[in-house]
Amino acid sequence: EVFTHTVQSDTFTGTLSVPTGLFIDGEFVESATRAVIELHNPSDGSFITKVSLAGKKDIDAAVDSAERAFERSWGTNVSAPARGRLLAKLADLVEQSIDDFAALEALNAGRNFLHARGHDILDVISTLRYYAGWADKHFGQTIETADSRFAYTRHEPIGVCGIIVPWNFPLILAVWSIAPALATGNAVVLKPSELTPLTALKLASLVRAAGFPPGAFNVVQGYGAVAGEALSAHMRVRKIAFTGSTAVGRRIMELAARSNLKRVTLELGGKSPAIVFDDADVESAVAEILKGMFTRSGQFCAAGTRIYVQEGIYDTLVPLLVHAAQSIPLGSGFEADIAAGPLISQTQLDRVLGYIEAGKGAGATLLTGGTRLDRPGYFVAPTLFGDVPQDASILREEIFGPVGVVVKFNTESEALRLANESTYGLVGHVYTQSVDRALRVTRRLQAGSAFVNMFAFLDPHVPFGGVKQSGFGRQLGQKALDEYTVLKAVHIRV
Ligand code: NAD
Repeated sequence: EVFTHTVQSDTFTGTLSVPTGLFIDGEFVESATRAVIELHNPSDGSFITKVSLAGKKDIDAAVDSAERAFERSWGTNVSAPARGRLLAKLADLVEQSIDDFAALEALNAGRNFLHARGHDILDVISTLRYYAGWADKHFGQTIETADSRFAYTRHEPIGVCGIIVPWNFPLILAVWSIAPALATGNAVVLKPSELTPLTALKLASLVRAAGFPPGAFNVVQGYGAVAGEALSAHMRVRKIAFTGSTAVGRRIMELAARSNLKRVTLELGGKSPAIVFDDADVESAVAEILKGMFTRSGQFCAAGTRIYVQEGIYDTLVPLLVHAAQSIPLGSGFEADIAAGPLISQTQLDRVLGYIEAGKGAGATLLTGGTRLDRPGYFVAPTLFGDVPQDASILREEIFGPVGVVVKFNTESEALRLANESTYGLVGHVYTQSVDRALRVTRRLQAGSAFVNMFAFLDPHVPFGGVKQSGFGRQLGQKALDEYTVLKAVHIRV
């Protein structure tokens, strides 16, 4: 079945169409049990459509199809340059439908259409092109071991890779894993979030149009507890690339360990700090901190939500932050000039409001926000707390909503101690005009990425990933190719 939907709005007008089945072995099919899930528009709570919901049998079918493709077509008969050409072709097809992809993210995930078009889907296209270029360039080494012997290494694909992604940036997070996995010759079974599968299904229809062999890429939308677990525990899945919460990452590692010791990369949550020193450019720092905190209403793994401000600048910067936070325009996925949109669901709304209550209960000062907006959909006003006790949950736990905390510090070493006092380590931000200080502080930040005078802006060319309980393994950049290949050493006597 194909879902069609006409949108007429300030930013986009057109008719969207997406197949609603599971994508297995190059075809859209119903789930074996005929189960479906209803999708809703987070901007107003309205019903969008039903899509098929994968159960355990469907996961088996998708893995079978991926394994067949890996052994008989995609993994054996398609050369590395041909893989590159197919990925480049896929990028071209996405580009031709860029508005539709952006509109689907707006409809299904509440992402602002203009942001999706101007950032996320452009990133999808450039990530596909970037890894299309790598497909025939990931070579091993020749190693001379003795006069009559040498060895060489080959980067070989792993096999069937399961990719499990969340709902906050549905397509780009999937493509960050899909593109290097396919470029290096693996077959993919993608499990998008049960809340936001529409862009993955649209991508699947283009994978077919681009000419990939059936089974090289499969999409099985389903619940984590059923489809996600079946994929993670599957004996013939050789790797899981997971993006999501730390709790689920821990569970996936456990399932991987208990089943076939499949490889795992984990891109998990964060509670990322931003340290603002007295010598920062205040105006630019305020703008970047706000983007870092409230982009996607804080539903952003790299969100910089712990703001440490040096004593000398605190009284200047904090009122500016509060004022700017109050002026952030919120709106639906299709409104223009919107800085932040809705939370994804009622569950997420309740969770965020719960944290706000906990913050008040812990004795923190509410500087701004703290309320749900009086309109349909799941909107929470950008919220800032000051005077936060060190053990308060709003300072320690990932909220994944538009809630930030502001904390005063005195010395550089105190700032580093506070910033590093977290179980997470995804990114860290530093605002200063001193190059010395920027280099010193970024070196000591416990984080996979550090950003100086800018909020976490991710680029396909640069590796990204966490330390501590933010996970391990790297996405993006050349480094990601190693995450999808195993090294074979071949020894030759001549
Ligand atoms: P989540 O962990 O609940 O779900 C993520 C995915 O895992 C979904 O597809 C879900 O269906 C699946 N899943 C859930 N339980 C599972 C299980 N037991 N076995 C297998 N799969 C299962 O996360 P979410 O609520 O969808 O997304 C928010 C989280 O994702 C936040 O913690 C955020 O920080 C994190 N995230 C991290 C990054 C990153 O790059 N580090 C990027 C985006 C989001």
